[in-house]
Amino acid sequence: MGDDFDAIVVGAGMAGCAAAIRLAQGGANVLLLERGAEPGTKNLSGGVLWGHDLDRILPNWWERMPVERHLVRKRFGFLTADSAVSFDLEDAGWRSAPYVAHTVLRARTDAWLAHEAEAAGATVVSSVPVERLNWEGARVHGIVQGGETMTAPVTIVADGANSRLSLGTPIRPNARLAGEATELGMKEVYRLDPSVLEDRFGVGAGEGHAEEWVTGGFPPGVMGGGFLYTNRDTLSVGLILNLQSLFGRGVYSHDLLERFKLHPTIAGRLRGAELVEYGAKLISSGWASRPAAFHGDGWMIAGDAAGFVFSNGLTIQGMNYAVRTGLEAAETALAAKAAGAATAAQLAEYDRRLEAASVLPDFRDFARTDRVKWNPRFYSVYPAFAAELFRAMFQDGGAAKQPARRLLRKAQRAAGLSTGTLVRDGIDLVRDL
Ligand SMILES: Cc1cc2nc3c(=O)[nH]c(=O)nc-3n(C[C@H](O)[C@H](O)[C@H](O)COP(=O)(O)OP(=O)(O)OC[C@H]3O[C@@H](n4cnc5c(N)ncnc54)[C@H](O)[C@@H]3O)c2cc1C
Repeated sequence: MGDDFDAIVVGAGMAGCAAAIRLAQGGANVLLLERGAEPGTKNLSGGVLWGHDLDRILPNWWERMPVERHLVRKRFGFLTADSAVSFDLEDAGWRSAPYVAHTVLRARTDAWLAHEAEAAGATVVSSVPVERLNWEGARVHGIVQGGETMTAPVTIVADGANSRLSLGTPIRPNARLAGEATELGMKEVYRLDPSVLEDRFGVGAGEGHAEEWVTGGFPPGVMGGGFLYTNRDTLSVGLILNLQSLFGRGVYSHDLLERFKLHPTIAGRLRGAELVEYGAKLISSGWASRPAAFHGDGWMIAGDAAGFVFSNGLTIQGMNYAVRTGLEAAETALAAKAAGAATAAQLAEYDRRLEAASVLPDFRDFARTDRVKWNPRFYSVYPAFAAELFRAMFQDGGAAKQPARRLLRKAQRAAGLSTGTLVRDGIDLVRDL
């Protein structure tokens, strides 16, 4: 008897939707399964969608997709308990179509993408929490849900960071994510009148601002960064914390989020805004969080489920990689359909595509990023050092001016930072980031 479908995709996030759209466009009979009541309802993301991977399947998607604002300014900075040092990037090119990035809210974008998949001919079914992959020896032959098996020669696993379908299977032999490669993301959405929002952030209609902060001032040893993104009539505010750094310190993650929001710099941006949504989600990022393989007999793994989140402290990019890897998996599945074989040897095409599309190089070549990103000094000593240095440079207290090298030494002393450590961390930063 033949299979039920040419391909089954599990998870209607960015990776799964992109894969399903491409498969349907390529003439495949594809089933996209989502456990949420609607695609997008289970998804949470801080929300800057970088790049144009979607162009491959949906030309000018940003004109039709319910994006929030196109980004015109990106800010990066350090917070101490009571000060903030930041750098902005603004580029005139960011203000015009096709734009470099957009802020998005996933409940809207993912529902729209799933609808596009349906329009292209995919069968999309929500409220289906797939129980497991249907393993026949070393081969995956579809999925099992509610005691029933649905079969396809190829199954694309796109079920997100805490990938239940792959954990504890040959794809990811460990039954749990590795603590050291896992982050906790928390996000709140606040409603704010668009004209107040645009005044407050100095942006025009439709324009967006994004900021990411290395957050000092948390209890010693706790490492994390905050973000704030402008949407149409809301602000997305949140924290991404190193999970391991929370263990055994007697701190609650939501207290840290409160602390971030109460920082004078952040509190001013939230003034008068009303909380409308909140959530938390794990992030499995970087090379250390990769599965045992990206493909095998009858299966491929894409997006967060495969650990494809690039997060280096300056930026977090996962949605772009989710779309790109979903598309490469779909292209591989279409080639397998044409060849009439979905063996591991045939699906090895997926790895070759991930290489050519700069996905594997981006993660493999920056495998040591975490060593720099999770250097505890970036969350304690360096925010204090930066604040002290810029204070000394900008403030005038009536005393004689000092040369820059003296100010540097003074800031080092105030932050407890030796020259040797500064040089060593600087070398690591340049080499590994
Ligand atoms: C707080 C936070 C901020 C972030 N900020 C950014 C950012 O600014 N820019 C950026 O690019 N990335 C960001 N990311 C990362 C980004 O959200 C992810 O990389 C992206 O969502 C990955 O898409 P995905 O499709 O692989 O997985 P997901 O979006 O997680 O989608 C997986 C889907 O699978 C479904 N599913 C799971 N299990 C099953 C099952 N058993 N059966 C059926 N369906 C199932 C889920 O309901 C979900 O819809 C952020 C993440 C967080 C948590």
